[in-house]
Amino acid sequence: MKIGFFGVGHMGGPMAANLVKAGHEVIAFDLVPELLNAAVEQGAKAADSAAQAVQGADVVISMLPSAGAVRGLYLGEAGVLKHIDASALIIDCSTIDADTAREVAAIAKEQGRVMIDAPVSGGVGGAKAGTLTFICGGQEEAIDRARPVLECMGAQVFRAGDNGAGQLAKICNNMLLAIHMIGTAEALQMGADHGLDPAVLSEIMKASSGDNWSLDKYNPWPGVMENVPASNEYEGGFAVKLMNKDLGLALQAALSSQSATPMGNLAKSLYAAHGNHGYAEKDFSSIQRFFRHKE
Ligand code: NAD
Repeated sequence: MKIGFFGVGHMGGPMAANLVKAGHEVIAFDLVPELLNAAVEQGAKAADSAAQAVQGADVVISMLPSAGAVRGLYLGEAGVLKHIDASALIIDCSTIDADTAREVAAIAKEQGRVMIDAPVSGGVGGAKAGTLTFICGGQEEAIDRARPVLECMGAQVFRAGDNGAGQLAKICNNMLLAIHMIGTAEALQMGADHGLDPAVLSEIMKASSGDNWSLDKYNPWPGVMENVPASNEYEGGFAVKLMNKDLGLALQAALSSQSATPMGNLAKSLYAAHGNHGYAEKDFSSIQRFFRHKE
């Protein structure tokens, strides 16, 4: 299939590379030329413009940082929606608010196009390994059409409900992720403050009731696990500023449903403060440093 792919950043880069590996023709577009070059090195073709990336595409995928970027790409100046073939399927994998996802999909529908939201979980590691979880919102038929493409980049494809439902399920997950990452970091710091080895403590908690994804797959203490941002100066991975964005989306959703989210609120405040202390671009597991004693 011919696939137009927007946003070849931390996540989109390896996702596009996996589509190439599966034999698809990927036409990539990104605002950052270096990232586009990196995608070309992985076998994608570079488009000169957003409109060119979707020409003759069977599927269009976007993996962008924000709702503003998604709206701008499909409806704004670039107005890519009108250049997409009516027969093509549009899959937005960005994490954005459900209202924008519904609105852009509704405008696409008015223009005779089918769009689903398919935000992902699994991080950069999952994107590279092709083991992402896709959390989709849209018509069942559209998600069934997307499934073979999504399976080139992920291990699981869920339908949470109609358009926007994928985004809601995704932010519920990310609110929980923020909470257990913070809890993991504070437990590891307290153990270390009492002279425990964080690697040994991690093994103990992994085999005990404190086990969780942050501890097991994304350990925030430097050197405990290989190939995670904590062991690479918290570079790569999922930026604090993006976690902050997702927590903002979660609180927005909580407000509209009058849901009580005390832990989500606290996580949002901690990540906002952490970002403001110079960590906005670092991976979200760098919250470990928030608990560090100053020398
Ligand atoms: P990123 O900033 O590394 O990549 C986003 C890319 O989109 C950038 O390269 C940017 O130049 C490009 N871009 C922005 N506007 C564009 C446009 N109009 N046309 C083409 N390209 C454009 O971000 P990321 O970490 O890859 O995250 C992307 C999305 O995935 C976000 O919504 C994020 O919340 C979500 N997400 C990230 C992770 C993670 O671990 N990084 C995990 C799950 C979900």
